[in-house]
Amino acid sequence: MVCITNVRLLLARHGLSPRKNLGQNFLIDEHVLQKIMNAASPGAGDCVLEIGPGLGALTRGLVDAADKVLAVELDKGMVDFLSVEFNEQIRSQTLEIIHNDILKADLLTLVGPYRHMRLKVVANLPYYITTPVIMRLLECGLPFESHTVMIQKEVAQRITAVPGTKDYGALTLAIAYHAAAEIVANVPVNAFVPRPEVDSAVIRLTMHSRPLVSADKDSLFRIIHAAFAQRRKTLVNALFSAGMGESKEHLSDTLIKCGLRPDIRGEALDIHAFARLAEALQGGRACLHL
Ligand code: SAM
Repeated sequence: MVCITNVRLLLARHGLSPRKNLGQNFLIDEHVLQKIMNAASPGAGDCVLEIGPGLGALTRGLVDAADKVLAVELDKGMVDFLSVEFNEQIRSQTLEIIHNDILKADLLTLVGPYRHMRLKVVANLPYYITTPVIMRLLECGLPFESHTVMIQKEVAQRITAVPGTKDYGALTLAIAYHAAAEIVANVPVNAFVPRPEVDSAVIRLTMHSRPLVSADKDSLFRIIHAAFAQRRKTLVNALFSAGMGESKEHLSDTLIKCGLRPDIRGEALDIHAFARLAEALQGGRACLHL
């Protein structure tokens, strides 16, 4: 793996410099790299989608272990660098470097042809787009088995938070709807060149093989967003101010029927409790009182 001096030399030799606006913080810590590989566990039969390969710190291990790696990189300078550096793997068709924006790439066209393989995502994500990238991957309809990604520690804590804590919120539940989330490593700033301003963490999202809850998704998330828009209010007051329920009494009765206290706050409910409530309210929109 490249060290600090090597990153600077490699970049300089190719006329490149780290682009802050593209979230370019290159990983230089071998132990962290190993933890990512252990968590993702790439192997035969795997097709790995890597986002932002950069100078190839993760790519090297991925092409050695997996049968196919699709690496999407926005920076043309990095694409040119990787095309030379990984010439052999590109020629043998183990690696495909795609010059594109992960938020715009047509994922079904790109990854769809490999859906007969075990699909995984591995990335040291550019932090300026962490949440939209994760949500896009989770909602694109491709059967990824897992996503092992480096993200800001603060976002990792929100994603893996438990009910009743300050970090728990709509983002936690948006992820929980699709996958089980865990932090597999905490990563300090000195694991990167240049150093980012915040600490990082590696998380693994293991996709649910079947939907976790049967409630209508739009109704469920309308309720969740209303609950966390005013998280200090009781759930009854938060939902009523968002125009839900025929009356506060109706909302209190519905909570009791769902086995919940009428004075409960949204932050105390897990995804199953929110789903029970969404079903009991017959899908938010149907019982708007406005
Ligand atoms: N994987 C390398 C590593 O671990 O050292 C680089 C990771 S760096 C945090 C993020 C990478 O994502 C950079 O190479 C950057 O150019 C790329 N990137 C930034 N925005 C992107 C986007 N919208 N689509 C694809 N790649 C992007």
